[in-house]
Amino acid sequence: MKKFLMIAAVVVLVLQASPIFADVEDGFTVSEITPEIFARIKGKSYKDNCPIPLGDLRYLRVLHKDKDGVTHEGEMICSVNIASDVLEIFRAMYEAGYPIERVRLVDDYDADDETSMRDNNSSCFNFRFITHSTRISKHGLGLAVDINTLYNPYIRVTDKGTIFEPATAGDYVDRTKDFPYKITRDDLCYKLFTERGFEWGGEWKSLKDYQHFEVSDKRAKELYPDYR
Ligand SMILES: [Zn+2]
Repeated sequence: MKKFLMIAAVVVLVLQASPIFADVEDGFTVSEITPEIFARIKGKSYKDNCPIPLGDLRYLRVLHKDKDGVTHEGEMICSVNIASDVLEIFRAMYEAGYPIERVRLVDDYDADDETSMRDNNSSCFNFRFITHSTRISKHGLGLAVDINTLYNPYIRVTDKGTIFEPATAGDYVDRTKDFPYKITRDDLCYKLFTERGFEWGGEWKSLKDYQHFEVSDKRAKELYPDYR
């Protein structure tokens, strides 16, 4: 009995000491930002003026399947506040075969959003202040996730015509058309994010951001009152 208790205590200690709190064996993990990962993001998504502590961010490894059912390994950085939700969402999408083409750090594209979107990359953290303000965008707080970005563009109608991003997404602006990787209100991706309290940019009124899921303004303000 005593021996059992000792083993149990050691197991508890090991679990507490480990930054990984998901099952390593199955391809889905969450860990802190190690020096190796920091070296990849420094000056890119984690710009030199970024006031968000590294301890607020987490590095996720996930598996995902493309539209042909081929499994790929992906990696993503997001806020510690949504890390377990995002891991669960990716696991559920993988198990259901919901197609995600690419999940790479935006740093692999020099933190350039347009290049990452043209590659249909799914990502989360990319620090920036909102133009002419001291507010930080939700991607800058790691509280917004973009999915299958080429096929689910950002679209805004102006006096001068329709603006969309990425610039190569022209074929996917008409949302009545059928094409792979399209996010709709009826699909699993929408369901998984919204049932965890995320809001979908495809439901916004003034503009549409079909790739974008984010925590509410209220929640972001509670977490970062100085920057929202
Ligand atoms: Zn976004």
